[in-house]
Amino acid sequence: MAVPKRKMSRSNTRSRRAQWKAVAPVLVPCSNRACRKPHLPHVVCPSCGQYDGRQIVQPA
Ligand SMILES: [Zn+2]
Repeated sequence: MAVPKRKMSRSNTRSRRAQWKAVAPVLVPCSNRACRKPHLPHVVCPSCGQYDGRQIVQPA
């Protein structure tokens, strides 16, 4: 297993970690014509419970 040869300085570690940023999630409009709410792609719509035109879960 590859092992770092030298200890990384606190400055280098902190500089690298300063680049970690949160990004807004990608949202797509629901394909259900009656819904059209934004939801995550490839995920069942949380408001109508449909995916690919099929009812997967009952909306809460
Ligand atoms: Zn929907």
